[in-house]
Amino acid sequence: SGRRRSSYFFFEPVELEDHESEEDVGDYLPRIADGIEDCIGNTPLIKIKSLSEATGCTILAKVEFLNAAGQSTKDRVALNMIREAEEQGLLVPHRGDTIYEGTVGSTGISLATLARAMGYKAHICMPDDQSIEKSTLLHHLGATVERVPVAPITSPNHFVNLARTRAKEHTLTSKDGSRGFFADQFESKANFQAHVRTTGPEIWYQTEGKLDAFVAGAGTGGTISGVAKYLKEERKMTNLRVVLADPQGSGLYNRVKHGVMYSSTEKEGTRRRQQVDTMVEGIGINRITENFEAGRELVDDAVKVTDDQACRMARWLVENDGVFAGSSSAVNCVASVVTALNLPKGSTVVTILCDPGSRHVSKFYQHVADMGLEEEEHHDLLSTLCLEQ
Ligand code: PMP
Repeated sequence: SGRRRSSYFFFEPVELEDHESEEDVGDYLPRIADGIEDCIGNTPLIKIKSLSEATGCTILAKVEFLNAAGQSTKDRVALNMIREAEEQGLLVPHRGDTIYEGTVGSTGISLATLARAMGYKAHICMPDDQSIEKSTLLHHLGATVERVPVAPITSPNHFVNLARTRAKEHTLTSKDGSRGFFADQFESKANFQAHVRTTGPEIWYQTEGKLDAFVAGAGTGGTISGVAKYLKEERKMTNLRVVLADPQGSGLYNRVKHGVMYSSTEKEGTRRRQQVDTMVEGIGINRITENFEAGRELVDDAVKVTDDQACRMARWLVENDGVFAGSSSAVNCVASVVTALNLPKGSTVVTILCDPGSRHVSKFYQHVADMGLEEEEHHDLLSTLCLEQ
């Protein structure tokens, strides 16, 4: 029946009829998905056993790299941005429309994949300091890729500004009626709403509402804001601790800890903005985006994570849990351990595994190898991470 038809994207828990038990139906009836765009969301939440044992808490991670299109947390966002643009008539399938985006990679990979699945082309502008496997992948996914030199956000050549310009140019010069659409993940509300509507509810149902902290890094801020909004406002989890995991060099940590905040609506150039000095990709920023702003007041604390700790965690997860995750996931896990150590034993901490390690082989995992971390086994988490209890 329709009642049983689970949607991968829009989470619909099965309601049992009186005569049924959970064993009768399982969580969902298996079904055939309507294309790759129908296989996003409902990702597993796994217990990271080694981190749980070492902290005396339960550390759970949402495996977002199992989303089927771009294999990252950004699939939810890309799908929601495309759907919303379609609803507003800004994108029409098979009209020759192109989706333009400025992205360090993950959003581009999700958009490029979904664009093809849904009748569009993709044009991605990205800074040239990001790992080469991401731009190569984008190319093979059929996207046009522009790698641009690192520039401040105030510059017209900043990758985000360039994508906005390219979209406008497309529409203005179009001779076939096709249009350019600037997805704008940093400022588009469709970003954090994807997490309010899917990631947050999934975490709630998967933990049956039993979690004490949620830990995530912020690139656009969509994940942390959206999940915090759902759990704290819609589910009234006022005691939930929402913790920002921030890589070295990012400005968000100071802003959360010391309250020096400003919004992206303030005039450009009023403060110095620089690129984030970290090897970690996808999180850490020096400005407040609309998506971070949307949940800023719901963020209770921040943990700063060094590149050294992120590399050690990445290696630890491979050795002890068979989890091969990207650099931002490693930052999330370090911050989850720090958070767990500050909570009573037995607490539950939920975090995100954003993208797979395979996207970070040439840069981040090369550094893990160069640090000599692959040559020894690690047995004590806290000394490995240089954390004192
Ligand atoms: N990890 C990776 C690999 C990412 O690409 C991003 C987004 N840039 C994030 C984490 C952070 O997610 P959000 O944009 O929702 O803050």
